[in-house]
Amino acid sequence: MGGVDLLDSLIALYRTKVRSKKWYHRLVFHFLDMVIPTTWLLYRRDCEGSGMGKKEEMKLYTFKSYVAEGLCKSGKSLEKKRGRHSLSIAGAYEEKRKRGPTAPIPVPDVRLDQTAHWLIMTGDKGRCRVPQCSGTPKAMCRKCNVHLCFTPDRNCFLKFHTE
Ligand SMILES: [Zn+2]
Ligand SMILES: [Zn+2]
Repeated sequence: MGGVDLLDSLIALYRTKVRSKKWYHRLVFHFLDMVIPTTWLLYRRDCEGSGMGKKEEMKLYTFKSYVAEGLCKSGKSLEKKRGRHSLSIAGAYEEKRKRGPTAPIPVPDVRLDQTAHWLIMTGDKGRCRVPQCSGTPKAMCRKCNVHLCFTPDRNCFLKFHTE
């Protein structure tokens, strides 16, 4: 009941503000504007079904930016084995993402996409972004823009991009 009205108001909430003369651009944006609130409603139903607390659910705005970031940065992986990461590790990253006072951690679609994550050395040290690691490395991932340990006995760089 009132499903269409609800969807309409959700679409209106974060409508893409792109004015293009090309009709197919408008079509694509309109399509995304419609699809994202719809998938968000499904996502919410999933959350409720799995007994997730209301607080942990993503807001529509966050959800939409997740999708956007994923579409923009996520590359094709050569490996087929993806999405089998333990929930507790995913949860720990999610906590860091939310809490992180500094640069945000990219969404899992980007972090685990196995594409163009290059290690760079910077002049400044920074907090390692792997949960439970207290290292302050100079090494960084260029794509994710976060500091990660990369030493003979600690490879947080690998951990960050695979777990
Ligand atoms: Zn990276
Ligand atoms: Zn580390």
